[in-house]
Amino acid sequence: MKTVDEINEKIKQGKAVVLTAEEVVRLAKESSPEQIAERVDVVTTGTFAPMCSSGAVINFGHTTPPMRLEKIELSGVEVYGGLAAVDGFLGATQESKADKSFGGAHVIEALIQGKDLYLKASSKGTDCYPGKEFEGYINKDMINDFFLFNPRNAYQNYAAATNSSDQTKYTYMGKLLPHFGNVTYSTSGELSPLLKDPRLMTIGLGTRIFLGGATGYVVWPGTQFRNDIKVNKYGIPVGPSRTLAVIGDARKMNQRYLRAAYFKNYGVTLFVGIGVPIPVLNEEIAYFVSRSNEEIEAEIEDYGLPGRPVIGQVNYARLSSGWLELNGKRVKTSPLSSLLMAREISQVLKVKISSGSFLLTSPVELFHEERTLKQLEKRTCGKELKLDKPCCVDCGACVSVCAFDALNLVDGKFSYVPGKCTNCGECSDVCPLGVELPPSE
Ligand code: SF4
Ligand code: SF4
Repeated sequence: MKTVDEINEKIKQGKAVVLTAEEVVRLAKESSPEQIAERVDVVTTGTFAPMCSSGAVINFGHTTPPMRLEKIELSGVEVYGGLAAVDGFLGATQESKADKSFGGAHVIEALIQGKDLYLKASSKGTDCYPGKEFEGYINKDMINDFFLFNPRNAYQNYAAATNSSDQTKYTYMGKLLPHFGNVTYSTSGELSPLLKDPRLMTIGLGTRIFLGGATGYVVWPGTQFRNDIKVNKYGIPVGPSRTLAVIGDARKMNQRYLRAAYFKNYGVTLFVGIGVPIPVLNEEIAYFVSRSNEEIEAEIEDYGLPGRPVIGQVNYARLSSGWLELNGKRVKTSPLSSLLMAREISQVLKVKISSGSFLLTSPVELFHEERTLKQLEKRTCGKELKLDKPCCVDCGACVSVCAFDALNLVDGKFSYVPGKCTNCGECSDVCPLGVELPPSE
């Protein structure tokens, strides 16, 4: 048994033994998990794949006169403006109205490169934010904040895709040829971060990671995270399972590890480079980091049929060999994630840790809570939302408009003195929660 603190001490002294996930798989051919746990301190992983559920939070900085940016476009791509004043969220898959092959991912990539982008924003104008229109160029050095916040990255495993129908299918899994013409898949197999710690024994809230060429952090279980998943005889999930929500300073990121892409007739997406260091704390973790492509399997789903039924199971050694046999036919396979880039990321992370410039973190919390995915069902008897009768939260916003001391805060509690009220009406529109003022006794 080791601790993360002990490993960090070794990293600081330049004594930590750091291997990439591929290197530890080779070592495991001649070493037991017990021996690996003794010899190896950290295993570095890597993945570089399309991760649609990605995006960036941008604080544009205030305009003169000040303006609340409500409708925002950056290089013709809509940025969600339903946040305060000059904050926006730019989703990677948001398409430009003018060109569906260009979108949020391209804008994020261009911002990271330092390019000037055209910002167009409008607002209804308020007394505190009188500005109504803004147009001009911005770049990453002119804005206050630019950080990546990706709600669902690094899927633990993902089903391979094929197509039994007689028509080509254009999907986020690439172009699927008719009659089982090909199979695509999208993980880096034995290099993939969550496949190397399948029970998430070391990865959790606050885990420091490589993200897009900079330092990032795991901030939550990613959306669609699920624990109730089928595992194979090696204890590794065979279908879409756990995911990570991650965050990191996009200004420090490198375009090499964040690349915009367009899948024909599907849309825009972002290739994200992620590397997670796994501390080899014990024999069980040593066992999992050592599992090879022969032992890691994925289900194959048929995108040609409704509900995408699972039609088989295959290991990553077979998938990465370039072909597999399906229905008695030799079918070509292709990855959507780049093995070369995943390998590079695991190497870069290894060098960073070995040189002492990247220390490991202990998660503040692990993600072991049971979760299952819900399926939306159409309901016909729903009712439109009606606002509840507003009630006072004792905020005090109304008190200062009353010149007659009829509205007061006493020990932080709102009070109304009817006898002092002249019904002047000054308070009638002041309550932000919609409480009727002056109160009807
Ligand atoms: S009446 Fe409205 S404004 Fe006044 S204290 Fe209550 S919540 Fe605040
Ligand atoms: S209507 Fe009454 S409570 Fe409201 S501001 Fe005037 S005096 Fe004060």
